[in-house]
Amino acid sequence: MDQISVLDMLKIGVGPSSSHTMGPWKAALRFIELIDSKQQLQRVHQISVQLYGSLALTGKGHATIEALILGLSGYPIETVPMKDVKTTPQQVATTQVLSLAGKFEIGFSIDRDIIFRFTERLPYHTNGMQFLAVDEQGAIMVEATYYSIGGGFVVMENEGGAGSTVTLPYPINYARDVILHCRLSGQSLPWIIKENEKVWRSESELDSAMWNIWQVMVETLYRGCHTSGKLPGGLDVSRRAPKMLEYLTMAPAYDSPQQWIASLGELSLSFEDTLSIVSCLAIATNEENADFGRIVTAPTNGAAGVIPAVLVYYAYLNRKGKATRTEIIDFLCVASEIGSIFKKRSTISAAMGGCQAEIGVSSAMAAAALTHGMRGSVEQTLMAAEIAMEHHLGMTCDPVGGLVQIPCIERNSMGAIKAITATQIALKSDPSAAKISLDEVVQTMWETAQDMNDKYKETSLGGLASNYSVKIPEC
Ligand code: SF4
Repeated sequence: MDQISVLDMLKIGVGPSSSHTMGPWKAALRFIELIDSKQQLQRVHQISVQLYGSLALTGKGHATIEALILGLSGYPIETVPMKDVKTTPQQVATTQVLSLAGKFEIGFSIDRDIIFRFTERLPYHTNGMQFLAVDEQGAIMVEATYYSIGGGFVVMENEGGAGSTVTLPYPINYARDVILHCRLSGQSLPWIIKENEKVWRSESELDSAMWNIWQVMVETLYRGCHTSGKLPGGLDVSRRAPKMLEYLTMAPAYDSPQQWIASLGELSLSFEDTLSIVSCLAIATNEENADFGRIVTAPTNGAAGVIPAVLVYYAYLNRKGKATRTEIIDFLCVASEIGSIFKKRSTISAAMGGCQAEIGVSSAMAAAALTHGMRGSVEQTLMAAEIAMEHHLGMTCDPVGGLVQIPCIERNSMGAIKAITATQIALKSDPSAAKISLDEVVQTMWETAQDMNDKYKETSLGGLASNYSVKIPEC
């Protein structure tokens, strides 16, 4: 089985969707790399992309068109200047000229060159894309098919899995492997994870990359909590996070995202206040996500609010800012490793498994990380993940208007609060008496995913998406 680094599960990205925005963006980047590897970029006259299945059905609301333009223009996802995320696609739409890989201008008409195959689906995965590059005579130069398989992971047709085929000292394919490695080595779960990560990078590289992930999360939370206005897409949804935090007038002064997050650790909070802040923080990240903001995919964009909200709860509301850098990094490592078990044995793609694959998995990841942080045993850590997922089983993906706004934004709050509740239950339980294991719940999630009607798998054909009566204007 392919192995997955913790940095594959937590990636710096751009909203609103990991599978429908980041996946197509990454596929477009890979396609221009493929053409470049044949030294044919300068001969390309036209590029066309065909979108299938869920990508076709919700691609417009999930900014797939914009993502393809940004990818074909050669913008890297992690470092794209945020001002270009909105302006470049608008310019291409207006001028019908695209700068391929940022080097060669070609004609590009969105209506002609991005084709939506609403009723067709490619065999491997519902999020299929076919890219075609032709020369001036109309002859096909390069063609490739890619699949966006959830969480920003992309595979090319016949390429195999999205992970790497390395040999890890402590391979983790099941939750039971975690217990085995920890018991036999006498070490903690973060220690096992960090030993495995050495196959890909040094300990200090992992430390800086994880700390950078946390800094991006903090900046996203800050922007989300300090930006008002309406979200794009025509649903007329207002941002709520700044209003929800407004009553915290006793918050100490701050003038940077880092000072602001530290100020949360100085607050004296009632149970209701704590609940409100966690909910608000989860919402803040996903309002940024819905507004094409910079976010950390964790493990997907639609569910990106859960882990940062629970991490702030752990490090600032509960530990009052006394959590160390290592403890914060360990939190992220544990969350990520638990997410990778779901990715390997079930799915983190809403187009395959509904919203249980997004909010359910992020809640399980956060619950495990929080339980570890609160000094739970490894058995309690896995138990918390099991409890969090057990109560998301069967949750459908039904984004209204194909936008990652309703019900997505509030679902992040629900996932965060469930993660904290799962931790509380696990910390007060004896895991040896648990009737259901994490491996059993992962398997159940996969079977549930296969039984679910396609209407509930990120198609906007069922659930809330089909019962919402207000017409969304074309935009
Ligand atoms: S309903 Fe859930 S899975 Fe679907 S787009 Fe929204 S957050 Fe993602």
